[in-house]
Amino acid sequence: MNMNTFGSVHYNAIGPWLKERFGERIVKLSLDGGFTCPNRDGTAGTGGCIFCSSSGSGDFAGTIPQQMKLLSRKWPEARYIAYFQNHTNTYAPAERLRALWDDALSHPNVAGLAIATRPDCLPEPVLDLLSEYNEKTFLWVELGLQTIHEPTERLINRCYPLEVYDRAVRELSRRGVRYVTHLILGLPGENTEDMISSARYVTEKHPFGIKLHMLHVMKDAPLAAMYPDRCPLMSLDEYVNLICGILEQTPPDVTIHRLTGDAPGALLIAPEWTRNKHAVLNAIQQEFKRRGTYQGFGL
Ligand code: SF4
Repeated sequence: MNMNTFGSVHYNAIGPWLKERFGERIVKLSLDGGFTCPNRDGTAGTGGCIFCSSSGSGDFAGTIPQQMKLLSRKWPEARYIAYFQNHTNTYAPAERLRALWDDALSHPNVAGLAIATRPDCLPEPVLDLLSEYNEKTFLWVELGLQTIHEPTERLINRCYPLEVYDRAVRELSRRGVRYVTHLILGLPGENTEDMISSARYVTEKHPFGIKLHMLHVMKDAPLAAMYPDRCPLMSLDEYVNLICGILEQTPPDVTIHRLTGDAPGALLIAPEWTRNKHAVLNAIQQEFKRRGTYQGFGL
C-alpha cells in the first residue's frame, strides 16, 4: 500500500467505516445487561483483572432508553449499535442472551449488536447463537485479551491462557462472526517490544477490529495499590509513538475502535494526560503527519 486512503485521520476509524457501511451515522449505546464476571465470582478467578473498576469497565453504561435519550440530543438523526459493555456479556444461558438481544433489536433505531466478553465465555450454544444473530443483524464480539504474554497475564489476574483466545478467534471466524480484540498498552513489566508483539500477534489474525488503550489507574481497581512504585506509566509522547508504530504495522482493513481510554474523571488516578481525549487523538494525527505514514504503511 502506498497511499493514505483514510483521509485526515490516517487510520481506519470505526465511525467513518460504519457510516459508509450503513449510509448514515451509527452511534454505540453503552449498555449494562446486568451481567457479572467469572473473574469476580470465583468461577475463573476472584478480585477481577487488576485494572478493572467495580463496574466491569463500563462506567458510562445504562439502559437503552437512557442511552438513546442522552445520545439523541447530540445526534438526533443517528441510528445505534446496542453495545453490551459491562462485565462479561455472554456469561449467561443462551436463552437469556436471546431475550436480551431480541429486546435490543426490537427498538426500530437499533441497527446491530456489539457484545463485549471474555474468550473463555463462549461455549458452543453461545457460539451457535452468535452465528444465528450474525445472520440476521450486524454484529461484532469484543474479546478482552490485553496482552499475549504469560507473565503479564498472571500479574493482571486475567485468569485464562492465550490458547483460549486462539480458540475463540478460530470458532468465531469459522462462523463468520466479526470480532474486535482489546489490548492495553503500558501494563506493568511490559516493554515496547512486548506491546508491539502483542499487537502483531492479534493483527496478523486479521480481526474485524482492535481497541487499544493506555493503562488507566482507577481509584477502585486493585492496580491502584501498585501505583506508582510498581506501575510506571508512559508519557503522552511515548504513547503516541507506540500507537503510530503499531498502526503502521496493522493491515489497513482492520477497523480501529479505540486509541484512548474513557475513564471517568472522578475515578482516574493516572495518567493525567488521558483526561483530554481530543488532545491524545490530535497528537496521534500530528505524529502521523510528521512521519508521513498511516495504518498499514509498514506492511
Ligand atoms: S476486565 Fe473484564 S474479565 Fe476482567 S474483571 Fe473486568 S469485567 Fe471481568
